[in-house]
Amino acid sequence: MEIVPLISTHENTTAAPFSGACTSLIHMPLDIFIEICNHLPPYDLHTLTYVCRQFHYWLNSTTSYITRDIWNYSRLNLDEHMKLDPPEGMDEITFIKLSLIEKKCQICKNDQEIPKIYWVFRVRLCTKCFRTRVTIADTIPVWPRDAIDLSLILPYEYLVTSRNIKKCVYWNSELISTLQECLLIPDKEIGDWIFHKQTITNKKIEDSLKRTKNDENRINWLLKKKKDYLDQIVKTLESIKDDTGKKIYIKKHILSQPIYKKAHSTLNTPFMDTGPWPNLLEKLKNEYYENIIIKQRRKSIIYRIIKLLTYRKLSNTKGEIFINDPILDYLEWCPTFIKPPVKLNDVDDVIRRIRVEARDYLKKKLYRRRVSFLTIEGCIKLLTQCKTCAPLFKCKLCWGSRRKSYNSYDEVNRHLACQGTHNLYYSDINDSLIEVDHENVKKLISIWLSKIVLKKTT
Ligand SMILES: [Zn+2]
Ligand SMILES: [Zn+2]
Repeated sequence: MEIVPLISTHENTTAAPFSGACTSLIHMPLDIFIEICNHLPPYDLHTLTYVCRQFHYWLNSTTSYITRDIWNYSRLNLDEHMKLDPPEGMDEITFIKLSLIEKKCQICKNDQEIPKIYWVFRVRLCTKCFRTRVTIADTIPVWPRDAIDLSLILPYEYLVTSRNIKKCVYWNSELISTLQECLLIPDKEIGDWIFHKQTITNKKIEDSLKRTKNDENRINWLLKKKKDYLDQIVKTLESIKDDTGKKIYIKKHILSQPIYKKAHSTLNTPFMDTGPWPNLLEKLKNEYYENIIIKQRRKSIIYRIIKLLTYRKLSNTKGEIFINDPILDYLEWCPTFIKPPVKLNDVDDVIRRIRVEARDYLKKKLYRRRVSFLTIEGCIKLLTQCKTCAPLFKCKLCWGSRRKSYNSYDEVNRHLACQGTHNLYYSDINDSLIEVDHENVKKLISIWLSKIVLKKTT
């Protein structure tokens, strides 16, 4: 019995063809390798041949019984639609590789069109690549057709044109070689030769019909498998729960992620090695985290800050955030706020970390600090940022029932200059006559945090 040697004598055969290859894989004993292969469907075996030179060597030997058995076992037991034996004269490995429609067109690897296996010609091609390699029967000039009736002896397939017309075609190289062969046949033998060719052609065409039917079934099976796989991924995500037993991934949001949509839009082809498909679950998880979870986390951080916000400087309550705290000025740049931890069990702990980061920014004078919210300038800027009016300003000269808050800086100035009240010249009015309404500033900061800061952070 002829078998592949266990370990190649060539040093470079066992070397990793690319850096980072796992050395334990390269030095795997053959029996373990075979055991692994016995669990792999043909598609995965084919992929395995590209892992390293050793695997390629083991899996591509057309003379080794072991290799043939691996492929044969995989084809018959691990793929529902590869039960037909190879066509006459084709070895197991070549046959399986040709049968793998999910590997795309053999020439161009076009992932927009499902290729067709033209069994008569033994190729797997997209329409475009096929068209350039065949000759349409009608277009062959009369002189070569005069000698013999090509339609009787040449294997043919059909090319479906863009107008959905079926045209009988011959494989270019086969057409040429047959014509050359024909010219060399002595006249008295031509009859036998034609008969011989006819028999082969008829066999090929008959054989190809049942294989094409089988391919159609296999494509449908692959498409269904692909759709089931996508559904399974959604189910897997939905089943993941946090420590409190709450679902982390919500179906509605999963289905709205661009990666999911991209995967869904390619369910009409059986290809799984391009686009979003490799590592789809991980990619979907990451995208969901970026688009949904991070935003939810930031929201809960902001709501907690709003809750802790105070304008009473001498407040004794632990953890309260004074409206002049640097955390408000630097929040949108704090790394812990931009990328909150995956697990957010204790929001207060996260806020403590953000406060440390904010103080650090203040110390290093990184980024430009906003003007304090306790100053008139700070309040004017806050109003501009929120694009709103709010009663933030109070007149220091008013007392009792006359004391109220004004919606804008201009409004409080008009009040001070008004003849009915203090009757000041505009030149006498300055900011020392105006104070800010802390209660209302606090309210506006809450709105600013939940609307402006949250939107700004991406
Ligand atoms: Zn192609
Ligand atoms: Zn006043």
